[in-house]
Amino acid sequence: MDIEAYGRTDPGPVRENNEDMFLIDIEHGIYVLADGMGGHAKGEVASQMAVDAVHEILMGEEDPDETRLVRDIEPVDPADVLRERLRYAMNQASVRIRRESEIRPDARNMGTTVVILVIEDGQAHLAHVGDSRAYLFRRGRLTRLTRDHTVVQQEIDAGRLTEELARLVPHKHILTQSVGFHGPVEPDTTTRVLEENDIFLVCSDGLTDPLDDDRIAQIMGSHPIDQLSDVLVDEALKAGGEDNVTVIVAQAR
Ligand code: CA
Repeated sequence: MDIEAYGRTDPGPVRENNEDMFLIDIEHGIYVLADGMGGHAKGEVASQMAVDAVHEILMGEEDPDETRLVRDIEPVDPADVLRERLRYAMNQASVRIRRESEIRPDARNMGTTVVILVIEDGQAHLAHVGDSRAYLFRRGRLTRLTRDHTVVQQEIDAGRLTEELARLVPHKHILTQSVGFHGPVEPDTTTRVLEENDIFLVCSDGLTDPLDDDRIAQIMGSHPIDQLSDVLVDEALKAGGEDNVTVIVAQAR
């Protein structure tokens, strides 16, 4: 199956910096998005470091111990090995950012969300940390594939808050884990078997704050893939979005 993919990032109308970063490597099936945080614009450093580290590790020959351990248990599902590799890449990125923030006083406390999407051999593998999201748009229906690592999501899960109210509370952006700031991370991972015309959407909260899932689904159902990233970003800004907005869309053909 061929993949057609597009990405766009916009700093938004208010912020001087764009702390979002994304990478599209169609040839190797690697898609990464990071939304950085930290004072003095160091969110930019964190998100760039994360994207670079993840890409380098996934492209490299480095064989993490964790992967080897999985492979020692027969029979091995290649998807298990791949997801273990994503977890390893995420943690290596976290270690690198944390080290950097320890030697640079101006970069203390920097961290970043990360979503990794790898598409190969008819499967899509995902790993994420933080509140950037991945969605699957299949046959007109939008499914969220990630669960935000936020205090608010925990409150929703515990039944103390509704999705609607969660969009309004002031602490909605407090993360329960992030790459770099929190040291070792425990990404959630998942694998989906591709179907023709599936569209994967990876985005920062600059998209999902101003647009709810119904609106995103509506937009995805009414625009061709080559216009989607532009329309989604434009609609987020039109709806009053003030944050950096970043979108990656990838469709299986
Ligand atoms: Ca953001």
